[in-house]
Amino acid sequence: MAERTILHMDLDAFFCAVEELRDPNLKGKPFVVGGSPQGRGVVSSASYAARKFGIHSAMPTAQALRLCPTLTVISARHGDYAAWAKKVMDILSDETPLIERISIDEAFLDVSQVRESGRQIALRLQAEIRGRLGLPTSWGVASNKLVAKIATEVGKPEGCVVVPPGEEAAFLAPLPVQMLWGVGPKTQEKLRQAGIETIGQLAGMPERALRSLFGSRGPELAARARGEDERPVVQHHRRKSMSVERTFARDQGDRELLESVLLSMAEELGRRLRERDMSAQVVRLKLRWPDFTTMTRQRRLAQPTDLDEEIFAAGLALFEGLWRSGRKVRLIGLGVAELGAFPRQLELFDGTWQLERRLMEAVDRIRDKYGEGAVRRARLMRKKEG
Ligand SMILES: [Mg+2]
Repeated sequence: MAERTILHMDLDAFFCAVEELRDPNLKGKPFVVGGSPQGRGVVSSASYAARKFGIHSAMPTAQALRLCPTLTVISARHGDYAAWAKKVMDILSDETPLIERISIDEAFLDVSQVRESGRQIALRLQAEIRGRLGLPTSWGVASNKLVAKIATEVGKPEGCVVVPPGEEAAFLAPLPVQMLWGVGPKTQEKLRQAGIETIGQLAGMPERALRSLFGSRGPELAARARGEDERPVVQHHRRKSMSVERTFARDQGDRELLESVLLSMAEELGRRLRERDMSAQVVRLKLRWPDFTTMTRQRRLAQPTDLDEEIFAAGLALFEGLWRSGRKVRLIGLGVAELGAFPRQLELFDGTWQLERRLMEAVDRIRDKYGEGAVRRARLMRKKEG
């Protein structure tokens, strides 16, 4: 394969950085974006000042508050984050069409064909995103995706780490094995028991030992540890599904409450679809009982949709197929799948649908301005007041 130049970009503490744009008083303060400490909420994003207390994402919010009692907890505004992320991706798209977005705040760029050096391009884009949007990013530059992503991680925050071709293995060697893609807690534990803690040690393991520990996966792991990765940057990466779920602090058996949770999840999914100009063909429901058995069901829609009401109706029908009155639920999840930019066949003839679509667009605009709580359907209002 010809030599490639791959850039990896990651926004630093992205949700927190957006909150700082909204409220500059938060700058330098310990705060997190996350779920409520009263429930089973977890941290989605922690400011760098909060990280000094040992707080990190996926930690229960209650635990974070024990580590830092003065911590500010902000509830997520996903609409805002999606809008800012889109502005970042638009800046990247002006640079090259060879972009693979891998999450809301991360992307790979293949700039092999650009005359400028990888470092120059990365520094220029970093300054542009900082200057035009006020958002901090970190960059990794390498001959492949694997090494570029780890280079970004090493340089955080606001770093730009370049790994020249030929130096991949030497760059990775001193780093801990868990930084390697594909090394989860189980693999890490096996390696630790074999006395392997750094990527360099893994790369140096004899093939026999690797095979006896990991079977046919062994040589593949060693290749990664040497910094080898041929995966191409795949353009127009689109999500195939999205979902939201909620674990209750106490198991719930009340129909009205469960329905209102389903409705608010349908609203979130509808909104995320509309933001991406996508529609879904399949709606999925997940229920987990108090004994942790989990059921999932899905339903194909007659027409692809991005409307809250239609997602809710399908989710409710699935719910009614699984749930018996009074049965307690530990977790409820709603998802949409088979996403695409589908044309709606009846769009031109179905006036009701167009009216509903315009209503939803207006609602999205209000939520952008005033936050997710600003518009609540009558059903949810009744429930809260009751
Ligand atoms: Mg990030």
